[in-house]
Amino acid sequence: MNRQSPVSLPEGYLDFYKNLETWQNIQQSTLKKAYQNRPLDVQELLFSTNKPILASVNFELEPGQFKKTYSDLLLFLRKERPEIGGSLDKLENNLDHLNFDLLPVKLLEEDQQHFSALAEVLDVPVELVIFTVDHALRPYLRLWAEPYYSTIAQDDFKSWNFATICPFCGSKPHFSRIRGADGRRFMFCDRCFTEWETRNIYCIHCGNDNPHSIQYLSVDGDMAYQVYTCEECKGYIKTYDERQKGQLNDLFIANFETVYLDMLAQEKGYTSHDDN
Ligand SMILES: [Zn+2]
Ligand SMILES: [Zn+2]
Repeated sequence: MNRQSPVSLPEGYLDFYKNLETWQNIQQSTLKKAYQNRPLDVQELLFSTNKPILASVNFELEPGQFKKTYSDLLLFLRKERPEIGGSLDKLENNLDHLNFDLLPVKLLEEDQQHFSALAEVLDVPVELVIFTVDHALRPYLRLWAEPYYSTIAQDDFKSWNFATICPFCGSKPHFSRIRGADGRRFMFCDRCFTEWETRNIYCIHCGNDNPHSIQYLSVDGDMAYQVYTCEECKGYIKTYDERQKGQLNDLFIANFETVYLDMLAQEKGYTSHDDN
């Protein structure tokens, strides 16, 4: 699906994310060849622990293999973003000093302090350190989560009722969709691609469900792409309504395509509460 963005995005911005996703897909399908699915009763686990699956089940990540994926991502970035070659050199030169056992854990724990300290030692912007660990880890998260996608999406609140926490990897979602067939709403995790149901007229940040203080912003009357805003906590979340224009094939890219909706919401004083 090709659509014009109402604001002009920086040149190459979307292509970069599309190429990154392609790179991740390739990594994932390579990893999949040697991967054995684990039979897990994810609903029972979520219900009994109230924790994301990754917090209660140990998925094996071999540090040497993760290092290889990470270094492959640096190669990809070197091709896509030659202007940051200096920083990429520093990461490359320090590959043997990075702790590939610990980095994924720190990323999912959102341990900002850990990454700030590391960035200072490496003399590289902290955003780049986090970005590289985050995006190198995603093929693994998707590989592990994929066998449970449909079970989790069918759960309808029986075992997981936390809209802002991905039931598989524990990350914070930035996008939801309204399903065309029945108008039910699903959160989408852009890290592991898990979807899980959430209530429709509902602020995912504070739980407000008063229809009078939940509103919808859109641009140029395009009701397929909306921002739900909440007057109680001033939070927002982007949503795609399939009833308007049919199914989207890529919610990961849709999130980047609709950066103009983030700008609109933030200009009006709303926040995605990402700092919490
Ligand atoms: Zn996730
Ligand atoms: Zn709210």
